[in-house]
Amino acid sequence: MVSHPSAAVAASRAAPATPAASPTGDPWLLTPGPITTSPGVKQAMLHDYGSRDSRFIAVNRRMRERLVAIAGGEGTHVCVPLQGSGTFVVEAMLGNFVPAGGKLLILVNGAYGKRMARICDYYGREYSVQETPEDVPNDPDALDRALAAEPAISHVAVVHCETTSGILNPLEAVAEVTARHGRALLIDAMSAFGAIPLDARAIRFDAAVASSNKCLEGSPGMGFCIARPEALAAAQGNSPSLALDLHDQWQAMERNGQWRFTPPTHCILAFDQALDEFEAEGGVAGRGGRYRENCRILVEGMRALGFQTLLPDALQAPIIVTFHTPGDASFVFETFYDGLSARGYVIYPGKLTVAESFRIGCIGRLGPDEMRGALAAIEATLKDMGVTNCAPVAA
Ligand SMILES: *Cc1c(COP(=O)(O)O)cnc(C)c1O
Repeated sequence: MVSHPSAAVAASRAAPATPAASPTGDPWLLTPGPITTSPGVKQAMLHDYGSRDSRFIAVNRRMRERLVAIAGGEGTHVCVPLQGSGTFVVEAMLGNFVPAGGKLLILVNGAYGKRMARICDYYGREYSVQETPEDVPNDPDALDRALAAEPAISHVAVVHCETTSGILNPLEAVAEVTARHGRALLIDAMSAFGAIPLDARAIRFDAAVASSNKCLEGSPGMGFCIARPEALAAAQGNSPSLALDLHDQWQAMERNGQWRFTPPTHCILAFDQALDEFEAEGGVAGRGGRYRENCRILVEGMRALGFQTLLPDALQAPIIVTFHTPGDASFVFETFYDGLSARGYVIYPGKLTVAESFRIGCIGRLGPDEMRGALAAIEATLKDMGVTNCAPVAA
């Protein structure tokens, strides 16, 4: 159950065409971030803490410790937070850990894998790409062959849940192959961290990155890197960027508990509250369980309306679901989007190259009432549009 008693009660009474608004009156965000936050998380931001305030330093320390614990990295990994959106910390990870003489193999099946290749272009880092279609997971056997064939590859980069499609990549198998070949693993865990297990005791990685505003349900504004301290120490001097130098950020924070440059204080206070709520919900198991239920309600309801998912259920992460655009000539995505938005639900356009599609997220402070409310809004919007057949165009 989500923690909006009044909204939940309103939702259960509401007629399908008038679903409940969120407690702030803002639409529910069924997107991959920013996401809908709880009232408590928003409330936590109503303070102005100075960056040297001992209360702030204590919150910051607690946040770093808790993020390491979520990754099962106590005693083996450290947490280095960084200002900015998720891409900033992905870029920081690549710039810090892949040295000028190294080479990165990037496993690509969507936009976020491709973005890592672009970052390497900017930084002039050597890389190669092993690409599968957007609806096909990374191939650990092909990775095995590539690492055997190319000794120059020092690092492998993988996207845990590729948010472009919502596909879950085989992280454990990728990590096993990478470790067996003695290469270092870098993980973009942005849209999975906190909902899908990432356990440093079970898989070997040098660094994993995520952000405050996805499955941990904080506000946008910061990312963080969970890294092995030996790998971070070895990264000294690698970063082509001062602002994104994780080694420098880490060393400074270890010295006095402070951020090098203006910290996103409000975001960190909100994140501290979000982590309290995450723990109260039962950690990764509890959070992942709620999202799986959201995903199940959404997919079942959409299939009942005639929509088809891009992915088979076995490949679907409970984060964001891609649906084929209906072939019905009355379906226009912009009209559909606006109709849902007017009813209080924001969805996401598709980003695929393999098919016409749109996406609906399962993450953020959403529960069964909100998912059912979204389905009711979808049904009402389709009716207004005169869409009668939600099946995709025949391939
Ligand atoms: C959201 C996301 C990012 C970072 O995106 P920003 O818009 O910069 O926050 C990176 N990788 C994945 C897989 C993501 O889902």
